[in-house]
Amino acid sequence: MAVTPDATHDPGRRSWIDSANREDTDFPLQNLPLGVFRRKSESRIGVAIGDRIFDLHAAAGAEIVPPRLREPCLAPRLNRLLAAEHAAWPELRGWLSDVLSMDSCPASLRSIAEACVLPAAGVEMLLPMQVGDYTDFYASRHHATNVGALFRPDQPLLPNYAWVPIGYHGRCSSLVISGTGVRRPNGQLRPETGGSPVFGPTRQLDYELELGAVVGGTNALGEPVPIAKAGERVFGLVLLNDWSARDIQAWEYQPLGPFLGKSFATTLSPWVVTLEALAPFRTTATPRGDGNPPPLPYLTDAADVAGGAFDLQLDVFLATERMRRDGIDPVRLTRSNLRHLYWTLAQLVTHHTSNGCNLQPGDLLGTGTVSGPEPESVGCLLERTRRGTAPLPLPSGETRTFLEDGDEIVLRAFAERSGYRRIGFGECRGRVLAAHPL
Ligand code: CA
Repeated sequence: MAVTPDATHDPGRRSWIDSANREDTDFPLQNLPLGVFRRKSESRIGVAIGDRIFDLHAAAGAEIVPPRLREPCLAPRLNRLLAAEHAAWPELRGWLSDVLSMDSCPASLRSIAEACVLPAAGVEMLLPMQVGDYTDFYASRHHATNVGALFRPDQPLLPNYAWVPIGYHGRCSSLVISGTGVRRPNGQLRPETGGSPVFGPTRQLDYELELGAVVGGTNALGEPVPIAKAGERVFGLVLLNDWSARDIQAWEYQPLGPFLGKSFATTLSPWVVTLEALAPFRTTATPRGDGNPPPLPYLTDAADVAGGAFDLQLDVFLATERMRRDGIDPVRLTRSNLRHLYWTLAQLVTHHTSNGCNLQPGDLLGTGTVSGPEPESVGCLLERTRRGTAPLPLPSGETRTFLEDGDEIVLRAFAERSGYRRIGFGECRGRVLAAHPL
């Protein structure tokens, strides 16, 4: 696990791709996120660099990629790379950093590498990996407390929360890439006044601001991953919008948890930002205080406490149909930070495998809604509008309690720290489509 920055994070490194050297790019030479795009009717692995894509498939085909990395780079998804030995990940990053750098790219490779670059605009992005299993956690204590207070004012946080990372098994078939329309689901809705439910379009469609951890490596069935090794099982992060129908969810969730209120769509951003790229932005895990117990020993590791969290700014923007028509910029609904999580990524991996469950390359672990302590840092409308009782005014003169048809939600994330290049995640975008007619 790249815990400490190295030469690939040197802010003085510049790329021969000009747009990668712009201050405002999400994708400078120090980032190098991996994704999958369509070219010549093939699914190919690429790297975002400035406003370009470096076609790794083409580079591997031209045999400039180091020999043992070629086969994973020729695959149609990231899964082969995720299954490769852990040392392959920093090796690929180091090679990419050199070959795309102004000063370190060997002259013999430069023209071949240049031929592997294409403009990112207009390119169709695909899901970066074949996801075998998707788990969604509930790792923000602020979110759990806020949501709990809406449903159980007398006992917002259930007693297990402080001890056990809460999660549920999600749905893979409805994972979609940024830009895909999200159809308002129909479902059973119970009137606020009680009585029999009706079937119809959700009236409480919501977004959830989350990060998705992309799993690499394998543990055999029955073999837990100890906390000291768990960080190595996360290849990188994507933005994740866990679209939620609160009225469907509220009626169906007891006793087995979320089901159709969640499984209609989950949107992912296309570029996987590696944990190596995020090394400079590691920070101390949220201190346990406020009467919270220390984690049980199997979830405790000194290195994880010292650097297992990430200082990553998270933003949510909304643009309604009217705002787009009137030329009004999207409005920011939320600014949160990944460091607010109660559990670290390593703790989530260790807990997930603690019963012997095997995590496989390409599995996806959602963090759960990342809410912070302030009112403006809550990660969904359920919290922001207090279950629809406090409508949110918009610059168009409209208000929102939950999402309307035509509303578009964009999640963004970036990390910045003095002495390092700012890196970003691009965007995770989805627009609400009208419900399927009954
Ligand atoms: Ca969620």
